[in-house]
Amino acid sequence: MSNEIRVRMAPSPTGLLHIGTARTALYNWLFARRHGGVFVLRIEDSDRTRSSEEYVQNILDGLRWLGVEWDEGPEVGGPYGPYFQSQRLARYHEVVDDLLARGLAYPCFCTREELEQRRKEMQKQGLPPRYDRRCRALSEEERARLIEEGKPHAIRFAAPDEGGVAWEDLVRGEVQFENNALDDFVLMKADGFPTYLLAVVVDDHDMRISHIIRGEDLISATPRQLHLYQAMDWERPQFAHIPLILAPDRSKLSKRHGATAISEYREMGYLPEALANFIALLGWSPGDDREVMTREEMIAAFSLEGIGKSGAVFDIEKLNWMNGVYLRRLSPEEYVERARPFLEKAGLSTDEAGMGMPALQNDDYIKRVLLLEQERAKTLSELVDLVEFFFRRPESYDEKGERKWFQREGAAELLAAAEKKLAAVEPFSVEQIEAAVRGLAEELGMKAGPVIHTIRLAATGRTKGPGLFELLEVLGREEVLARLAAARGHVQKAAE
Ligand code: GLU
Repeated sequence: MSNEIRVRMAPSPTGLLHIGTARTALYNWLFARRHGGVFVLRIEDSDRTRSSEEYVQNILDGLRWLGVEWDEGPEVGGPYGPYFQSQRLARYHEVVDDLLARGLAYPCFCTREELEQRRKEMQKQGLPPRYDRRCRALSEEERARLIEEGKPHAIRFAAPDEGGVAWEDLVRGEVQFENNALDDFVLMKADGFPTYLLAVVVDDHDMRISHIIRGEDLISATPRQLHLYQAMDWERPQFAHIPLILAPDRSKLSKRHGATAISEYREMGYLPEALANFIALLGWSPGDDREVMTREEMIAAFSLEGIGKSGAVFDIEKLNWMNGVYLRRLSPEEYVERARPFLEKAGLSTDEAGMGMPALQNDDYIKRVLLLEQERAKTLSELVDLVEFFFRRPESYDEKGERKWFQREGAAELLAAAEKKLAAVEPFSVEQIEAAVRGLAEELGMKAGPVIHTIRLAATGRTKGPGLFELLEVLGREEVLARLAAARGHVQKAAE
């Protein structure tokens, strides 16, 4: 084997790209980039009933979106393809035939029902429910006869019974398993499809994989896979098992804790570079206290030694914080470009759905609206909520705000006076608007606060938002006056 570093990611397309799978992919990718190696993507679709084309696409899209590009694999090809297990069946049969011929595998004719029944009996007797190796004891004649009769059969591995198997895990250190804890696992199912255990070893060998970096949930597969390497007299790769991602309650992260699919985070408006940075730190640390890191910095700092041994807790608050940092770092042009599709999806940037103002078609308006909230939004979908009122006139007003500001004595008069005042502001700029609003408060013998809050509620329907003078300037005089008039009508009607 050459010294080339070749790593792989081997997802089964049985669900949406999961955060944990994406993290495994990212670690493999970082490792490859760090060492000038090759990152292979292989789709483990040998479980025909559970795999789907839609999930394959979701996985490819999700990895590309995160910037985890593969050097060999689907759509890019490579010297060791095909990169879909379902297209490699002949090769698995070749390996199984070789093992059969050397007595290292055997056909098993036990039916599912028989196996189930025997498993139950063993459990009753307090024994570990393992295959009892009944078919391993069949004579050659019996095997030939049953095959002749066309009896369906799987192929099992004739696993060693005594001794043990060990490896030096690059994350966990020395790991050992006793062979008597393993059983004669199935290599090929009765339907002629390989099991994961067989296919993964054949593919990793054929694709010259040097390091297997994968989740700790697969650690119990490793001793079985090592036996297969030995049976085939193939050089074993190195293994690194990374700890699982945990929910804040330290249980395994799952759907009940919230979104687990990369595509869900994409739809929620997280930036791929922020999400990748966050995911990288779930279990890995650069060895100092750096958190926000560029891709190049992560590549330069990445090592398997930097991966912790205990589970990493998924903290959504930290992700939100990090995403906010990345959002604020974007140049105004980039920021607007990233945010725009989210506005469009929410139906906010088109004339029909909006206020019917030609200004909405105006790039400049959209840009000014978005930039007003660059400091506050933590995600792009949150941004859409924050700016919605710039595109839709308020149809109702915040309830608490209404009680506090609209149900006050003189609220309608205040709104009328504000209309009049703002109609005369020239130019309609932040400074002039501010002077007018403060002047109005003085004239009315009020503090500035209540005046500002009332105008805000009238103009936005909300009690919070960007600075009032800034937002009024962006809305523009015409729209502001229309909204103040509508609010005044609302206040008067409510008082009747
Ligand atoms: N296909 C396996 C999975 O999706 C991963 C295989 C491996 O990394 O060995 O869990």
